[in-house]
Parts: sequence; structure tokens; C-alpha cells
Amino acid sequence: MSQVHEIVGFVTAVGSSVHKFKVGDRVGVGVIVGSCQTCDICEQNLENYCPKMIFIYNSTDHDGINTYGGYSDMIVVHQHFVLQFPENLPSDAGAPLLCAGITVYSPIKYYGMTEPGKHLGVAGLGGLGHIAVKIGKAFGLKVTVISTSPKKEDEAIKKLGADTFVLSSDPAKLKVRNWKKK
Ligand SMILES: [Zn+2]
Repeated sequence: MSQVHEIVGFVTAVGSSVHKFKVGDRVGVGVIVGSCQTCDICEQNLENYCPKMIFIYNSTDHDGINTYGGYSDMIVVHQHFVLQFPENLPSDAGAPLLCAGITVYSPIKYYGMTEPGKHLGVAGLGGLGHIAVKIGKAFGLKVTVISTSPKKEDEAIKKLGADTFVLSSDPAKLKVRNWKKK
């Protein structure tokens, strides 16, 4: 297992109705481990808005027991909230995709920012922002990082492959930018 807000591990047992997984499968579980699965919101696959959503940590599970996320030795999760985790993806590199990754992937997908040539703006280059840059580049987008910190420019452009960098704390830098569409 790894991480606190998400878990990567192996299936040790399955219930009789489980059809997606078998014992020994390498799997990942993100931040959400439960919801009512019957309301209109859940039926639209928007469980993160369900009033009965259960977090992987610091929530009360269906059985009344507190959830402890990655501090647990073992957890019981409905198959709906479990994902196959690729064998060739290291746990420490892949686990953040189940939390920070889905947080930025979801709006990118929802707003159709998946076609090459579109222009993605990423405000802030922290834990979420750096994954947004990588996902944006993987989709073939033009990516601009907007940050208050000049120290982030090298990381954005050279390390992560962003196309442009805007230093938002410098009004002069904002003015000289050419925002015209190509
Ligand atoms: Zn629901």
C-alpha cells in the first residue's frame, strides 16, 4: 500500500457478487470509497456530489466504522470504487493519479480539453498543477502555466514541457503577453 488519500495494493478476497476483480489483482482506490449509488447524482456517475459520499479517510463507512485510508492494513471497498492498477506503474508514481490526478483530469475531460491544439491554462504549479501540465501535454494541448513565483518557470517549461509561462505577480509581464488567437 502507499499514500494516505489513495491506496494501491492487491485484492486479498472478493465477495460472491464481485465480477470486476479476482484475488491477486493489483488495484487502486481513490479518495471516494462509497456513496448511496441510488440517487440521481450517483446515477450520473457524479458520486463526488452524493450527500452520502464516503471518503477513504476520516469518514464513517456503511458499517459505522471510521475510515483510515492509507493508514489501514486492509480495507473493504465496493468494486464500483476500485480500479485495475497497471503492473508496470510504480505505486509511488501512480497513486497520486488517484487523487491529484483525477482532480485535474475530471475538468479537463468534462470541458472537452482532450483534443490536440486546444490551449490549457494551469493556475499554480503545485501538486495538482504539475499533473495538469503533464495530462495536458499528453492530450497534445498547448499548455500555459500561470504562477506568482518566477522560480517555477524552469520547472514548468524545461522539466514538465509547458509551452509558455506567465508570471502573474508582475503586472508588466502580464501586459506584454500577446493573447491573440493564432
Ligand atoms: Zn448518491
